[in-house]
Amino acid sequence: MTDTRTEIHTGGTDAHPDGTAGTPTGGRDLKALAEQAGRDLEDSSPLEILAWAAATFGERFCVTSSMEDAVVAHLASRALPGVDVVFLDTGYHFEETIGTRDAVEAVMDVNLITLTPTRTVAEQDAEHGPRLHDRDPDLCCALRKVAPLQEGLTAYEAWATGLRRDESPTRANTPVVAWDEKRRKVKIAPIARWTQEDVDAYVAEHGVLTNPLLMDGYASVGCAPCTRRVEAGEDARAGRWAGRAKTECGLHG
Ligand code: SF4
Repeated sequence: MTDTRTEIHTGGTDAHPDGTAGTPTGGRDLKALAEQAGRDLEDSSPLEILAWAAATFGERFCVTSSMEDAVVAHLASRALPGVDVVFLDTGYHFEETIGTRDAVEAVMDVNLITLTPTRTVAEQDAEHGPRLHDRDPDLCCALRKVAPLQEGLTAYEAWATGLRRDESPTRANTPVVAWDEKRRKVKIAPIARWTQEDVDAYVAEHGVLTNPLLMDGYASVGCAPCTRRVEAGEDARAGRWAGRAKTECGLHG
């Protein structure tokens, strides 16, 4: 647990977000390493996958969290106490999401890092007009999510996400470990094979923090202007960019 929050305003840095130099890559072929691990770890448990990540990358490994829940952050903190947990504050989050982030930082053994876009929402409104998310959500996501994460991950060799195969058809083939060509990093999805029931069981067993909106009809929590509650029978991500062709923010494409 840390007593101060690290705020990273993206703008270019090669240093580790906490200011340390970090571990050099040692000339490893990360792409080959990722592809081999994807095959070797397909049947491994999330904790085994994260233990491999901790041993392989050390402080050059982080977890990203949308603060929908803290399941992957909790698992990662067991494998690597004090692990960096990166949260992307787009400026459009529900207050419950910010509250979940603050609670995670207060009670879990993680180093919480908050990334923010280069421009505030007001500055973006001045440049592109208000409610860009309604008119051009791809550009809004590119400015407020994709670009900040790209920069925020610069110092890492590997990052973990909470992607699961059962969340939507677009995520059905998510590998547990893969090469992220866009960012040239190892991308780890330790709970890719878990179902919602597996997640619920882990939350219940370990008392893991979850976003209160999950108890209020939301099955997937993103930015407030682009998230609605889901109806019975809809998949978990049906409430994201509802009524639009868009299904992903571009972080995982
Ligand atoms: Fe903008 Fe909506 Fe994307 Fe958030 S989810 S960055 S508000 S378009």
